[in-house]
Amino acid sequence: GATLGVLGGGQLGRMFAQTAQAMGYFTAVLDKDETSPAGLVSHHHIRSGYEDPQGLAELARLCAAVTTEFENVPAGSLNRLAESLPVSPAGSAVAIAQDRAAEKAHFVKCSVPCAPYAVIETPGQLAAVNDVLLPGIVKTARMGYDGKGQVRVTTREELNTAWEQLGRVPCVLEKMLPLALECSVIVARGRDGTIVNLPVQRNLHRDGILAVTEVYAGNLPATQVEKAIAAARSVAIGLDYVGVLCVEFFVLTDGMLVVNEIAPRPHNSGHYSQNACDVSQFELQVRCMTNLPLTQPRQHSPSIMLNLLGDLWFKNSSEARSPAWDQVLALPGCALHLYGKHDAKRARKMGHLNITGATPEAVRATALKAAAILGIEPF
Ligand code: ATP
Ligand code: MG
Ligand code: MG
Repeated sequence: GATLGVLGGGQLGRMFAQTAQAMGYFTAVLDKDETSPAGLVSHHHIRSGYEDPQGLAELARLCAAVTTEFENVPAGSLNRLAESLPVSPAGSAVAIAQDRAAEKAHFVKCSVPCAPYAVIETPGQLAAVNDVLLPGIVKTARMGYDGKGQVRVTTREELNTAWEQLGRVPCVLEKMLPLALECSVIVARGRDGTIVNLPVQRNLHRDGILAVTEVYAGNLPATQVEKAIAAARSVAIGLDYVGVLCVEFFVLTDGMLVVNEIAPRPHNSGHYSQNACDVSQFELQVRCMTNLPLTQPRQHSPSIMLNLLGDLWFKNSSEARSPAWDQVLALPGCALHLYGKHDAKRARKMGHLNITGATPEAVRATALKAAAILGIEPF
């Protein structure tokens, strides 16, 4: 078997590696962290930074192809690897996903509507911001995730203070939109341009972090579903993207579909595909990397994913204690995925629970029971 490499050792890299191994590949992970979730399950663990030339050379020597699981891996490192082996996604696409200003310019280029916004990189641009963007959210252009690097502002004074607070780094200001719901689409595109997608996922965020993903017929209006798939595909095609891409959307209270952001990798909202679809998002990633055929995934069961954040380890005591897995797993159709992280911290993603059922009603009933056992608020 050939060896497939991944930049980044988090849970996404771990699940990629596990899937690649199930398909007969060896895996190599590049991550500084000794106990990274992906490093723990991989054949090779290169303990170096993303920009270390020696680490990158070692990865290139071991691997037949390389992918990334970490959004902020330097695009230059991907480009460097691409000189000697296939890299997907390309550094050029990842560079756009890493920068909210470039990302939004790409949406505009693809004629996919996004929130009205302004780029703030200079005091002049800050002063020139149009009042129609208030109330809004200031987001750092780079490195934000799970709602980090974001400040909600209602007045110009708050806007000025927020930009100071964020360290005057390049930001975008987005108009605060009235959301009816959030959803996302995962697409996979091969080197030959073949493109497939997972069904549209409906997502519930709490405190800026994904909490619940629900995927079953009737969960979203059919017109939004078609629009979201078409928009996600055109965003990927516009990037000449190779690999797995997640596109996040808002549906506004007036029914309008607006793109939020993209992630150049498998995504938390696609984890249900591990248990509810004939091809998971991680298998799509392996197939893209290795030029294996991409078949349109088929969802065979209604599904709900519950994110397992570190908070759940602190429900009954101030010291971390595992939730009652025995009670959860006594429910039908529950698949537990834990990431091998030993120190539970409150907002840390520790794992997820995929629930499948014969009908939407059945899967919802089970998911609500599991949530009650775990101490997750009902949804
Ligand atoms: P992720 O972990 O998904 O990468 P992130 O830190 O990049 O998160 P965003 O997706 O930009 O953050 O925003 C997080 C959440 O904040 C959104 O899912 C949505 O609930 C809310 N939000 C963001 N932008 C807006 C907006 N313009 N109007 C209303 N709500 C918004
Ligand atoms: Mg993001
Ligand atoms: Mg997001």
